[in-house]
Amino acid sequence: MERGAGKLPPRPMIRAFFVEFVFPLLLFLFLRSVVRNLIQGYRGRVQPQPQPFARQAPKVPAGGELKKDPVCGTYVSTAASVTRTVGGQVMYFCSEECRDKYKVA
Ligand SMILES: [Zn+2]
Repeated sequence: MERGAGKLPPRPMIRAFFVEFVFPLLLFLFLRSVVRNLIQGYRGRVQPQPQPFARQAPKVPAGGELKKDPVCGTYVSTAASVTRTVGGQVMYFCSEECRDKYKVA
C-alpha cells in the first residue's frame, strides 16, 4: 500500500511546474501575441492609403477644371487634357497634335 504513496510525489511537482512556470509562460506568450495583433490591426487601420502616386500626379479628377487649348481654342478638362510645362507654366491641350504645334510656335 505504501508503494502507491511513494509514486505520488512526482505529480504535485509536475503540477507545480505547470502552474508556476508553464502557465505563466503561455499566458505571457498569449498576451504578447494579442498585443501584437492589436498593434498591427491598429497600424493597418491608420495607414490604409495605397496612393503612392497621388502626390506625383496632382491632377484634378475627371470633370475638373476646364482649360482653353491655346492652339485650337477648344476647352479641355484638366484631367483629360494633354499637359506640357512651358516656361514653368502648365499648358493644357486637347491632343498631342496641338501640344506639338504649340511647341513649334
Ligand atoms: Zn487642340
